[in-house]
Amino acid sequence: MAQLDATAVRGAELSQTVDNIANEKAVVIFSGGQDSTTCLAQAVNDYGRGGVACITFSYGQRHSREVEVARSIATDFGVTPAQHHIVDLNWYGELTTSALLDNTLTISQEPTAVCPNTVVDGRNMLFLLIAAIYAKNRNISELIIGVCQADFSGYPDCRDIFVKSCNVTLNLAMDFDFRVEAPLMNLTKADIWGVADRLGVLEYIAEKTLTCYNGIIGAGCGTCPSCKLRQRGLATYLEGRGGQC
Ligand SMILES: [Zn+2]
Repeated sequence: MAQLDATAVRGAELSQTVDNIANEKAVVIFSGGQDSTTCLAQAVNDYGRGGVACITFSYGQRHSREVEVARSIATDFGVTPAQHHIVDLNWYGELTTSALLDNTLTISQEPTAVCPNTVVDGRNMLFLLIAAIYAKNRNISELIIGVCQADFSGYPDCRDIFVKSCNVTLNLAMDFDFRVEAPLMNLTKADIWGVADRLGVLEYIAEKTLTCYNGIIGAGCGTCPSCKLRQRGLATYLEGRGGQC
């Protein structure tokens, strides 16, 4: 009897998975941070709960709680475990050096003329490639990535020209009509808070997401470059709105 119940449950899960795959319209590259959560909220708004799959990467990042936070947020937005794939890239730090992957390096606090030392070489290209493989297998054309070139100077793989060229390359590589969408590309951090507000998730994102390099959810440590950027953007947005969060 227990076996029959288990089989029935598994059957229900499988049929739910098949239904979801049929309904899925986009894959969001999802870290559980402010930007990708805004993208997820927008995608769920556009395609409905169940209409969006997520992919999250565990690549030895400094804020290792990212994966657990991503799982929890994706669930809140109606992404089932069957629609959320976690990819293990924990070998990344063996190939390259970045303050994001190595706790013994100090994150550079000031913007410089060269790349910040938190750049991870090739990261967005690798993420897009793996997301595309995952998406094609689910017959999904749209890939959504929360990169933004307005606030982050010095990250070469956050530029619009990179995203567009990667789109062309992915289409050629897999003979598939991918559409790589970067809806935040030309928005400031303040603008991104505005998008969240219009979607009704500003408070949720302010409280639940993780962008802090020291792994503190919500407002974060307040002192790392990522927290400063996030807080400055929120303050600017709220000032413009003339109200409180
Ligand atoms: Zn921080």
